[in-house]
Amino acid sequence: MAGLPEIALDATAEVAARETTAGMTLRAARRLVVKIGSRLLVDDRSGTIRRDWLNGLADDVALCRRRGQEVVLVSSGAIACGREHLGLVGRSLRLEEKQAAAATGQLRLAHAYQNALARHDLTVAQVLLTQDDTEARRRHLNARATIDTLVKLGAVPVINENDTVATNEIRFGDNDRLAARVAQMISADTLVLLSDIDGLYTADPRRDPTARLVPQVHDLSSEIEAMAGEAPAGYSSGGMVTKVIAARIAMGAGCRMVITKGDRRSPLAGLDLPPEQGGAPCTWFLAEAEPRTARKRWIAGHLSVNGVVVVDNGALAALQRGKSLLPAGVVRVDGVFQRGDPVAVHALDGRHVARGLTAYGSDDARRIMGCRSRDIEAMLGFQGRDELIHRDDLVMDTV
Ligand code: GLU
Repeated sequence: MAGLPEIALDATAEVAARETTAGMTLRAARRLVVKIGSRLLVDDRSGTIRRDWLNGLADDVALCRRRGQEVVLVSSGAIACGREHLGLVGRSLRLEEKQAAAATGQLRLAHAYQNALARHDLTVAQVLLTQDDTEARRRHLNARATIDTLVKLGAVPVINENDTVATNEIRFGDNDRLAARVAQMISADTLVLLSDIDGLYTADPRRDPTARLVPQVHDLSSEIEAMAGEAPAGYSSGGMVTKVIAARIAMGAGCRMVITKGDRRSPLAGLDLPPEQGGAPCTWFLAEAEPRTARKRWIAGHLSVNGVVVVDNGALAALQRGKSLLPAGVVRVDGVFQRGDPVAVHALDGRHVARGLTAYGSDDARRIMGCRSRDIEAMLGFQGRDELIHRDDLVMDTV
């Protein structure tokens, strides 16, 4: 389906985003993802969870929540915590041993988060993801909706890779990348990587006394990538290379990212002030767009669509007012598509008016077209989404 018209992007949102990112403090965040590395959380030698540190982090999370910020945690540490309990110490582990260690460690990790956050009456929800859950469109929509719902209900999702089932080929392997994918998926505006290093240095600071901390990065030039590439293995948990990969994913999704050393009592509170005013040393990777614009761009970027839904004039007017597309306004469904696929929206006169990601496959969409949302269950035998295309997943074409 060639010849799609240009997409309208929200320029005012871009300007607002640039103004907030200019602040470079955590206070500007509305929805933040915090990645916690294994070494911060689990004592290297004993495999025990560092509860004092975790309590400090939980205090910070509670503070963010009190000031209205939504917080999602991506935590490593399952393998580090579980291996000791299975007697898997003193040597490198095979994949299946790591998976076994994760199976027991994840349980302890979840309990530790539950206890630490319960001190502030915060409910924890565990979400284990594989690469496909963040990348395959259908599963991406599911995981996004679940995490969104948890956050709206006031819970703090604690996310890790589903290490026990993920095989080598489908593994993230490092939680820097997982955290960036999660940030992208849930349209977070800020990603914090709590690390064992202050940020990105011009060279390895342990070897080169002239190495300087880079306070902010606007675009990931080859020079920046070279700085990350110089870091030797073991220099930080995922290495600086995976952090720069994470930055690329986050920045492309309109999410700014910050790296800071996590090994202090209140690692997030340290990001409330810029370093020159007493805040913690760190590197900010700034994003140009805001998440909503970036997500719409991503949807707009689907060159081909798998089907067409034709809508009546009432639905068209609603879409133009920024509403979602409900099944009631659909008069025809063309093509074969799956839930999560990109589809075009046409007006009755055949004009191309929008495109978006559909919440129903074509068979179900045909069954529920023209129906009120409350009748969906009766038509399909299950209670699906109210919207055929949610407004967050819809981009209007310019006319
Ligand atoms: N998912 C792994 C774990 O929880 C950690 C991956 C990483 O360290 O980045 O043990």
